[in-house]
Amino acid sequence: MGFEDALLAGLAGDGGLYVPESWPRLSEAMIAGFADKSFQEIAVSVLHPFMSDDVPRDRLAEMVNEAYACFEHEAVTPLTDLGDGHYFLELYHGPTLAFKDVAMQLLARLMDDALVRRGERATIIGATSGDTGGAAIEAFRGREAVDVFILFPDGRVSDVQRKQMTTPQDANVHTLSVDGTFDDCQALVKGMFNDAPFRADMSLAGVNSINWARVMAQITYYFVAAAKLGAPRQAVAFSVPTGNFGDIFAGYVAAQMGLPVAQLMIATNVNDILARTLVSGVYETDKVIATQSPSMDIQVSSNFERLLFEVTGRDAARVRALMGALTQAGRFEMNDKEMQLMRALFGAERVDEAATLDIMRRFREAHGFQIDPHSAVGMGAAEKAVLPDGVPIVTLATAHPAKFPKAVAAAYDAEPDTPRRVLDMLEEEERLTPVANDLVAVENAIREKARLV
Ligand SMILES: *Cc1c(COP(=O)(O)O)cnc(C)c1O
Repeated sequence: MGFEDALLAGLAGDGGLYVPESWPRLSEAMIAGFADKSFQEIAVSVLHPFMSDDVPRDRLAEMVNEAYACFEHEAVTPLTDLGDGHYFLELYHGPTLAFKDVAMQLLARLMDDALVRRGERATIIGATSGDTGGAAIEAFRGREAVDVFILFPDGRVSDVQRKQMTTPQDANVHTLSVDGTFDDCQALVKGMFNDAPFRADMSLAGVNSINWARVMAQITYYFVAAAKLGAPRQAVAFSVPTGNFGDIFAGYVAAQMGLPVAQLMIATNVNDILARTLVSGVYETDKVIATQSPSMDIQVSSNFERLLFEVTGRDAARVRALMGALTQAGRFEMNDKEMQLMRALFGAERVDEAATLDIMRRFREAHGFQIDPHSAVGMGAAEKAVLPDGVPIVTLATAHPAKFPKAVAAAYDAEPDTPRRVLDMLEEEERLTPVANDLVAVENAIREKARLV
């Protein structure tokens, strides 16, 4: 199976997740050369090794340039020096103001390009806890070869997030509000992919963070930030606001590709399954608690399965057994060796609701601008990181504060500094379809609206 097949399929036929057979290594000289290269140039060097035979380098460069032309900052993902060894990597300058634009804008082009070349069409299905949906709709709207259906948990996303999904009026994009949680939405998407006839009829493709190409596209900015801070001579740590484990897994891949990563800090809100796992070795689901950082209100982190594959020494049978135990009993236990491998690179910190608001306030006092609650969770975890002397830590700022006006009001007693394009969007008309938390009902709604058959 090649890169493009995995790109178009999303989830593997057996319910598992795709990973490359091996990790490409970049030379130290190449990484050193990134220090004065643009984001776009670094993206081509980092990503092309994953798709060598399927996408010519020149074609990738064209798609990369198009994908990032819609970002409002010329550096695409600017790095701000906060002092005391802390850095803030602003991933929110894309059209929907969250880091998911970075991967989605490229993914949409890679997919459309592959489909058009093959003379095929696809139906894209995704679940969102808030940010993925808008990013997908924005990236795919109006494209000829794809229809997009996004499921979101009714009442659990912010107004701005919902409107980013429901205001585009293009005939090929659809938003379904599900009477349930994000995990329910994710289970429905998994259910549709596991329904072989439905999957074949609709030519289903996935763009959730389980799609390998999305994780891949996020590797770029780890290299961009670390090269600015002196890699490969200098090791760098990252604090990553984590939900589905896609963004931080991209950091793991960067490390496998030769980037000197001192630590990857898993930053979670009170939905802290990953932080608990790192301490106890037991991965055990709990109830989802609604927080101010809804994009991290998750109990099952899909991409954690990819890390399991790695720390078990790529033992597919073991991963299948662990995932089976999770489905049956809601928990599994990792062994000592697996935990040792995980703790060698990963740390984890939980930041509760009061601390999140406190960090938002302290950040503005110290640095003069508002931050969003997800980025605040990242900052809180970065502050707790214990690192060797001289190792800088980069907090991934995953969303713009304008997406979370309630948290901004609670922290700052003020309106968020909202970009003009968002204010205009809030005035536009919404279009959405409410659906029950039921596989058949959702499949019927999609069959009815898709242009495919
Ligand atoms: C999606 C999202 C996250 C979590 O990223 P994962 O890749 O799912 O771990 C964090 N912050 C924001 C703002 C997000 O949209």
